[in-house]
Amino acid sequence: MKYHEMEERDIEKGLDTNYNEGLSSNRIQTIRKKVGYNELAEVEKQSLLLLFFSQFKDFMVLVLLAATLISGLLGEYIDSIAIMAIVLINGILGFYQERKAEKSLQALKQLSAPQVLVMRDGKWIKIPSRDVVPGDILKFQSGDRIGADVRLIDAVNLEIEESALTGESVPVSKNTEPIKAAHVNLGDMHNMAFMGTMVTRGHGLGVVTSIGMNTAMGKIADLLQSAETMETPLQRRLEQLGKILISAALLLTLLVVSIGILQGHDMYTMFLAGVSLAVAAIPEGLPAIVTVALSLGVQRMIRKKAIVRKLPAVETLGCASVICSDKTGTLTQNKMTVTHLWSGGKTVTVSGTGYNPEGCFYIGERRIYPLEDVPFKQLLSYGLLCNHANLVTKEEEYSIEGDPTEGAMLVASLKAGLQKDSLLKSYTIEKEIPFDSKRKMMSVIVKDEYGKRFLITKGAPDVIFNLSESIFWNGKLQYMSEKLSHQVNQAITQLAAGALRTIAVAYKPLDSHAAFKKEFELENNLTFLGLQGMIDPPRPEVKEAVKECREAGIKTVMITGDHLLTAKAIAHQLGIIKGNEKVLEGSELSRMEVKELEEVVEDVAVFARVSPEHKLKIVKALQNKGHVVAMTGDGVNDAPAIKAADIGIAMGITGTDVAKEASSLVLLDDNFNTIKAAIGEGRNIYENIRKFIRYLLASNVGEILVMLFAMILALPLPLVPIQILWVNLVTDGLPAMALGLDKPEENVMKQRPRHPREGVFARGLGWKVVSRGFLIGMVTLIAFIFAYNQHQDNLPYAQTVAFATLVMAQLIHVFDCRSERSVLARNPFGNQYLVWAVISSIILMIMVIYLPMLQPIFHTVSISMKDWLLIIGLSSLPTFLLAGSFFAGKSK
Ligand code: ATP
Repeated sequence: MKYHEMEERDIEKGLDTNYNEGLSSNRIQTIRKKVGYNELAEVEKQSLLLLFFSQFKDFMVLVLLAATLISGLLGEYIDSIAIMAIVLINGILGFYQERKAEKSLQALKQLSAPQVLVMRDGKWIKIPSRDVVPGDILKFQSGDRIGADVRLIDAVNLEIEESALTGESVPVSKNTEPIKAAHVNLGDMHNMAFMGTMVTRGHGLGVVTSIGMNTAMGKIADLLQSAETMETPLQRRLEQLGKILISAALLLTLLVVSIGILQGHDMYTMFLAGVSLAVAAIPEGLPAIVTVALSLGVQRMIRKKAIVRKLPAVETLGCASVICSDKTGTLTQNKMTVTHLWSGGKTVTVSGTGYNPEGCFYIGERRIYPLEDVPFKQLLSYGLLCNHANLVTKEEEYSIEGDPTEGAMLVASLKAGLQKDSLLKSYTIEKEIPFDSKRKMMSVIVKDEYGKRFLITKGAPDVIFNLSESIFWNGKLQYMSEKLSHQVNQAITQLAAGALRTIAVAYKPLDSHAAFKKEFELENNLTFLGLQGMIDPPRPEVKEAVKECREAGIKTVMITGDHLLTAKAIAHQLGIIKGNEKVLEGSELSRMEVKELEEVVEDVAVFARVSPEHKLKIVKALQNKGHVVAMTGDGVNDAPAIKAADIGIAMGITGTDVAKEASSLVLLDDNFNTIKAAIGEGRNIYENIRKFIRYLLASNVGEILVMLFAMILALPLPLVPIQILWVNLVTDGLPAMALGLDKPEENVMKQRPRHPREGVFARGLGWKVVSRGFLIGMVTLIAFIFAYNQHQDNLPYAQTVAFATLVMAQLIHVFDCRSERSVLARNPFGNQYLVWAVISSIILMIMVIYLPMLQPIFHTVSISMKDWLLIIGLSSLPTFLLAGSFFAGKSK
């Protein structure tokens, strides 16, 4: 028998599980041994060996290897072995960098791997969906992705979108009835839910029938394995730039070689020098270092509680000019406490803080007992029946499982002495119309002990008010007259103006067929019962974060489903509204075309009473005005806006799988402050990449120019090939990596956001590369000429001096690269990785120059202290000559 044909109870037996307790830990181990993990087999990745060899497939490296092989055959053993060793070490370094980049990308994937809610040993727990085994009981709700193939055992208004499997994008309604037909297509299995499909409505329970490659999705897994490109715009731009740089390096090398040959150097030496120069000057390691810098930045972001799901977002983050943030939970704490009740013209205040269910009720100074006061008793008990939240205690701390709004209402009823369990003895809940952000309400159909059925609805007060025909007032049912309407609205306004989130409760008696009616036919003609007003304190750190964003040229916009006045009051508290920024309501947004919205959107700081679909309009309008928009969201309906935003941000705690999958950034703590931190980090990563691009290219320009000028001036070779390769490996390698780990400049969040289409060499970087590179080349050449004149017959001496000058000039210049302003603008020892990289480069250089064993390999000789003075003096020039302009305030 197939699972869809079976009765629920038979499946429980068949899979040897228990619907109330779930599987036990012991059983799970046994089952796992048999069936393995719940994962789809991945396509073969590039093997390590292949990755290693791919490091040497660069054309110039191959030419160099061929050349050294020839020189080896010609008897130049030491040279050829040394060059090969350096090429090998370079390759190992490249391999290591690429592995690291790949591994951290893999780790990223793991972090954003889906989780499921499962019953184990009698408790609901969240586990990675990889750990699910057949027989597990899963619980899911709107916004969740189903973690395995399950047979449904409970379905409340459950609708699932199965397009990934069936191609049908209209969600399918699900139930738990066995299907007895002979042949059933996947699309018709109404009592099954399949791995990878998405719950769009309602909630349900299911028992896992198959996992991994045995699921319906597993059977078509091969079709689904599409490699998502993780390249960022900068990486693409660098790739293009790389091609230009390669051509330029080759052209210049050709020039060096041709001039050298014309000047009478022997062909073979020039060829080897030329190839070495080309290998050194081509920044082949750049893409890998960029990836490493990006992924290290991503790891730093994780420490700050932001998970980057798509690498390009790291760069875009630095360009963000507007953050559109949800209010509840992101700007506020989402720890709600009911402080006010209103019913029939009377306002009751409630004492107590947080979720601690202890507190009293007062009208003015007078204590009241809500259970003795019918309207308030009804307001609280109906709020409790239409409620999914649970109060849990852990080490004397109270917390809420479920929606905090409902949690607050639950705690208020507990304070009055109501218990859900005892209420459920008198009332049976027959059906639920779940909450959604568009309707802004939720209802249940209940039957009381006398068999009378009625609908209880709770939701946004203006929505409930508009659906109410009557009101419970002075112990009587009364028609909602103009006068009473006015009173209700006044109460709503008053609570909202005090920054309270307000929920209205209403009810309606039903006839016996009511349950079969469509919900829009049910939620009307209500009787308004009252209001519960709850505080949701702002997160303490957000005010400062909003201020810092403003200083960084980033505007914060609050988007909320809450009442306009509640939103406005909190926006004031957080400094989001400072002057005459506008507040727009969802109803106005609905009437506006995107074009009309564009005209005002930049002046609006708060959007209140919005539905998720308005978010898309807001994103579009802002983008049309040239903004780079970060947009937060958590629900299924937020996904289109999250996708459309330049930086889509999903909530890690309250966010649904759908929102997370659409996002490029997930906030582990749902906190606005984390967005700010991620933006700061995004800006820093970009600046660090600029730093090492500047360093590497200026170094390369220096290396090429010293050779070129020497050839033009008919001088001997200032550097031998192995020295050039050594500089490429040591001096260029380590410090560049350390620059990638640099701390942000103090002013990184004091500048306007970068333009997204800004070129790599913008803001004077190109000039810096050329000018510093030119100077590095020049001082090396001067050192060489000077030493050559001093030691006429000792070319290796002059070459060693030139080598030391080039290395030192680069190692001093690297400190200049830390700042956009000047080497003097920052403490040069602020980056300890860099200090260590420089120290180790210097030690290696001294070893190469002074160790008798290494001297023949690197063609070096010991040089005198006097010459070191010359070397240090000259090599400081490129950095400090131009640093002077910093004081004149015209540093480029
Ligand atoms: P944000 O500020 O992040 O947009 P929000 O909670 O205001 O969050 P929604 O969750 O879309 O936005 O809720 C919209 C409105 O629906 C709320 O302002 C509230 O009036 C009402 N509401 C929220 N939760 C519930 C609930 N569980 N049951 C009934 N009504 C609710």
